[in-house]
Amino acid sequence: MIKKKIKYIDPKIWQLIKKEEKRQEENIELIASENYISQASMYAQGSKLTNKYAEGYPNKRYYAGCKFVDKIEKLAINRLKKLFGAESANVQPHSGSQANQGVFFSILNAGDLILGMSLNSGGHLTHGMKLNVSGKLFNVISYGLDKNQKIDYEYIEKIVYEKKPKLIIAGASSYSLHIDFSFFSYIAKKNKSYLLVDMSHYAGLVAAGLYPNPIPYADFVTSTTHKSLRGPRGGIILMKSKYKKKINSAIFPGIQGGPLMHIIAAKAVSFKEALSLNFILYQKQVIKNSILLSEILKKRNFKIISKTTKSHLILIDLKNKNITGKEAENILSSVNIICNKNVIPNDKKNARITSGIRLGTLAITTRGFKEKEIIIIGNLIADAILFRKNIFFLKKIKKKVKNLIKFFPIY
Ligand SMILES: *Cc1c(COP(=O)(O)O)cnc(C)c1O
Repeated sequence: MIKKKIKYIDPKIWQLIKKEEKRQEENIELIASENYISQASMYAQGSKLTNKYAEGYPNKRYYAGCKFVDKIEKLAINRLKKLFGAESANVQPHSGSQANQGVFFSILNAGDLILGMSLNSGGHLTHGMKLNVSGKLFNVISYGLDKNQKIDYEYIEKIVYEKKPKLIIAGASSYSLHIDFSFFSYIAKKNKSYLLVDMSHYAGLVAAGLYPNPIPYADFVTSTTHKSLRGPRGGIILMKSKYKKKINSAIFPGIQGGPLMHIIAAKAVSFKEALSLNFILYQKQVIKNSILLSEILKKRNFKIISKTTKSHLILIDLKNKNITGKEAENILSSVNIICNKNVIPNDKKNARITSGIRLGTLAITTRGFKEKEIIIIGNLIADAILFRKNIFFLKKIKKKVKNLIKFFPIY
C-alpha cells in the first residue's frame, strides 16, 4: 500500500531507490565502512517519529508531546551504556563528525592545540585535516605509523611532552591492528591532556569483546553507528559522568537543533541487536573472514599494510602490482566488487589516485559469507587485478561474482 502511494507521488525517486536496491543486491560490498542494517532498524528509521520535534533531552524538552520519544531516547541511552559499560551517553549526534565536534566544543576553544592521526596514515578528516573544521579552528599536530607500519607510539610520547596538546585523539579509519588505549591514557594523564577515542570503525568489535574497549581509558569515546555497529547512519558520544552536562549542551544547543527521533529509535533497535549472542557470533566471523581474506591475498603476492589484520579491515599496498588505487577500484567495480581506493603510508599519489585499496568484511559477513566464499572472492580480486588487460577474463569473473551472490540475498 505505502509503496504504491510513494510510486504514485514521485516515480523518479522511487525508480532510483529500486535501482540502488538492485545494485546493492548484485554487488559484493567490500567498503570497510558500510554494512546492511536489519529490517527492524530500518523500519524504525522510516517511521512517523520523523514528524516529532524534541529539542532538549528526556524530561527536559522544549516542546510538548514528548511522552513516547522520551521513553525511546532513554531506552537508547541505557542500552548503549550497557553495551560498552559506559557511565554516560548521548545518542543525538547526527553523524560521527558531529559526535567529534560535540567533544571539541565541550572542552576546547578556538586556537587550542590538538593531536590526532593524520589522514594520510589512516586517521579521519575530523581529527585535524586542514579543510575540516577541526583543522581550521584548532592548531593541529599529527602522528602516523612507524617503520613497521604500527602506530608510532614513541613519536606520540615525544611530541606530547614537547607540545602539550589539550586534546589527544586516538582512532582511525584505515588502521587494521589494535590501538593501545592504555598507552594513550597514560600519556594523556601524564600531560594532563584530554583523551578522545573515536572508535567509529571498531565499535561493533568492541561491543562483542573482540577489540580492546577504550571506555576505561578515555574521557570521551565517540563512534558512528552505521559501520561495525550495524545500525542506522548516525553518531554517539560516551563519556565519564563528570562530562555529561558539558557534552549534552555542546550537542544541543551547541551544534544541533532537534534530534532525529526516528534515527534514535533505530539506534535503540540496533543496540538491542548488538547485545545479543548472535551479534558476537557475527563479529567473530567478521574477523575470521578478514584474516582469511588477507592471507589469501598475501599468498597471491599482495602487500598488506601492517602485515596483517586484527579487525574487519585490510589496507593493501598495490605498488608491486603496477596499478593505482583508482585503477584497481575501477577494475573491481567492473566485475561487481566494490571497494575504495585509499592512500597508504608515505603515498606518493594524491587522494584521488592513491597507491592502495581498503577492503572490509562487515557487509559480506552480514550477507552470510563464510570461509568458502571468502576463498573464492579473495582469488577473484587477485585474478581481476592481475589479468585486468584481458576483457574476456574479466567478463568471466563478473559472471562468477553474480553466481556467488545469487545464493546470498541481503534482505
Ligand atoms: C566514519 C568515521 C567518522 C565520521 O563519520 P560520518 O558519520 O561520516 O560523519 C569519524 N571518525 C572515524 C574514525 C570514522 O571512521
